[in-house]
Formats: sequence, structure tokens, C-alpha cells
Amino acid sequence: MRVKCVICDKIESIKDESFQAKRLRNRPIHTFMCKVCEDRITERTNARIATGNFQLYRSKTEEDEW
Ligand SMILES: [Zn+2]
Repeated sequence: MRVKCVICDKIESIKDESFQAKRLRNRPIHTFMCKVCEDRITERTNARIATGNFQLYRSKTEEDEW
């Protein structure tokens, strides 16, 4: 099946029987991320955790309170 990366719009083809294909069939197609973008985000997340600046969604909720 053909899927589009939500970050860079790259079209990739994945095996129909792969875990990723099964997951995408149960979820909206826009959750797909290509390997490059996935790696980049993982790297960035790990870097943020390493520097101690990683914040959970909790801080966002606090900002949204009126
Ligand atoms: Zn991508």
C-alpha cells in the first residue's frame, strides 16, 4: 500500500502485511511518518530529554487555563 509522510509529504510504499500497514488501516492515514522524519523526531526528542528541557503536555494545559 502507498502512504504519504505527514511531515515531508514523501510517498512511500509499505508492505500490506507489515505491522505499519495494519496499524494504518485501523487509524487515519495521516499518522504515517517516513523513516527519515521518524528518526529526526526521535533524535530531537531524545536530545530534549538529555538536556532536561523535555516537557510533558501538562505544561501546555496550564497555559490554556483561563
Ligand atoms: Zn518524511
